[in-house]
Amino acid sequence: MIFTHDAEHALGTVVDLINTGPAACGAERLDDLPALRAFVERNAFSDIRALTAADLARVRGLRERFHAVFLASDVPAAVALVNEVIAEVRTTPHLTDHDGYQWHVHYFAPGAPMGEHLAADCGMALAHVVAAGELDRLRTCAAPDCSRVLVDLSRNRCRRYCDSRTCGNRMHVAAYRARRREADPAP
Ligand SMILES: [Zn+2]
Ligand SMILES: [Zn+2]
Repeated sequence: MIFTHDAEHALGTVVDLINTGPAACGAERLDDLPALRAFVERNAFSDIRALTAADLARVRGLRERFHAVFLASDVPAAVALVNEVIAEVRTTPHLTDHDGYQWHVHYFAPGAPMGEHLAADCGMALAHVVAAGELDRLRTCAAPDCSRVLVDLSRNRCRRYCDSRTCGNRMHVAAYRARRREADPAP
């Protein structure tokens, strides 16, 4: 593991969130409350109650700001973005082992609305990435026609494609064909 399991979980959530947006996937995939509820469920958020239109608006706003961290041109730019997110949210760090998970730190205030929960825990996960000098693990997919993001959690920092399943395969097939063309040029 590169980061702690809760940080990696939060980073996976950030990636999933960014990839629901038009800037990453070409369409709005977080377009209503059922879509927001599905996002909460597939990322196993704890302690989330009713979701409202205000939550949806706040989450979409955070999506843009998290995406900006992935696109930041250098560390100071990323630092400014992350600090802004975590400065405006209430955080109450505490250790928990809920639902059979090992001890980990929650940053959101108990009972916090969805947007605050996301800003606190995902904002802090991004802060830890920057503090660990690992900002370059936050990437955009290397496939030329894909703008989705990924977190490279491999030891040797070799991950280049998003996990939409098609990108890695597609690019490997293209590279294979290019090699074939070089080895065996058409007449
Ligand atoms: Zn937890
Ligand atoms: Zn991709």
